[in-house]
Amino acid sequence: MVKSDRLSHSGELRESSRLQVFDTIRAAGQIARIDIAQITRISPATVTAITAELLAAGLIEEVSPDTARGAKRGRPRVALKIRGSAHHIAGLKLSHHAITTLITDFEGTELISHEMPLRGGQMSPDDLCEKIVEALDQSCAKGGLTRAQISGVGIGMAGVMDAERNFIYWSSSLNVRNIDLGSALKSHLSMPVFIDNDANLVAKAEHLFGEGDTRSNFVVVTVEHGVGMGIVIDNQIYRGVRGCGAEFGHIKVQLEGALCQCGQRGCLEAYVGDYALLREANITSGVERHKDLASLYAAVAEGDMMAQSILDRAGRMFAMGLANIVNIFDPQMIVLAGAQLAFGYLSSDKVVEEMRRWVVQVDGPLPEVRVHGWGNQMWAKGAAAYAIEEVSALTIREVASHAG
Ligand SMILES: [Zn+2]
Repeated sequence: MVKSDRLSHSGELRESSRLQVFDTIRAAGQIARIDIAQITRISPATVTAITAELLAAGLIEEVSPDTARGAKRGRPRVALKIRGSAHHIAGLKLSHHAITTLITDFEGTELISHEMPLRGGQMSPDDLCEKIVEALDQSCAKGGLTRAQISGVGIGMAGVMDAERNFIYWSSSLNVRNIDLGSALKSHLSMPVFIDNDANLVAKAEHLFGEGDTRSNFVVVTVEHGVGMGIVIDNQIYRGVRGCGAEFGHIKVQLEGALCQCGQRGCLEAYVGDYALLREANITSGVERHKDLASLYAAVAEGDMMAQSILDRAGRMFAMGLANIVNIFDPQMIVLAGAQLAFGYLSSDKVVEEMRRWVVQVDGPLPEVRVHGWGNQMWAKGAAAYAIEEVSALTIREVASHAG
């Protein structure tokens, strides 16, 4: 008994070393074996053995010395890199009006990008599955690929979900609660699917490709139809115990306040989200005067006092929310991302100034607030990055099961 436990423990260690070596190669882009050993503190002999397995499995490849970065004259060193052609990966961002798809190679290089419009509103899980398959097929066809060539699909959507189980507690895209969307998709798609909250995936994309790439502790706040947040603590996305942490849009800012799309009252989102602003703007006019935010913003520009007061209140509510984040997490940086921010008022100096006033006052610099106007492509890229990580872990596990 004891012996087999020990064996499985050493097997696990070897698997985690493989993943560590693989992740180090991915993070570096190109790296020599000796440098991998130095960074990971795994012995050079073990690094050589592991990289031999990864090479044999076709997951990494050698870069010839003359093209390897950092190779010194006279002392050529063979570097290793991820083999891009090892897998095709798809990242999907599901929003109310479109499914945006990005197909990348295993290195994360973008190959195909596609946007399929949706009619909008909530869907049944079956309809959603069909739309996801349709979007994937359209994207593949665009680049001359077939669905069978995709090794993994990452999906980002709004709502409260347990990413580990692909389980959706609630989403504004679905007309029912508590859906095992992973299982539902299994009858449509044969490759592994990884679903996560879209704001978490933006945080992942920020961490890998964007403003967060040099930070280890930051939060991303997303504002579009609703309000979301991704938290990165010590380089890891923090999801909470039930997998549904960081629901910034549903922190309460008013007792018995405005009705939120989640069914509760007084949520931040019910004052700041696109739908909340339009609801407020249209409530007194009796007719649907504003169909989108651009129309509301145009009214402000024309001196409409009511429209102005709606945006002012949303700004103050948002500042209060941001101050609460700083008071709890004390992050290095807050990144504001999403289409609505293009309109500027949520990231105005006034909002940032109010946030400053409401944070705990200490003699130290406040976190930087940055606006990142990445569109749907960025969200899809985050979904692809998530799928690349998960497919890597699965493939490494397969290598381990062959190697023993
Ligand atoms: Zn809510």
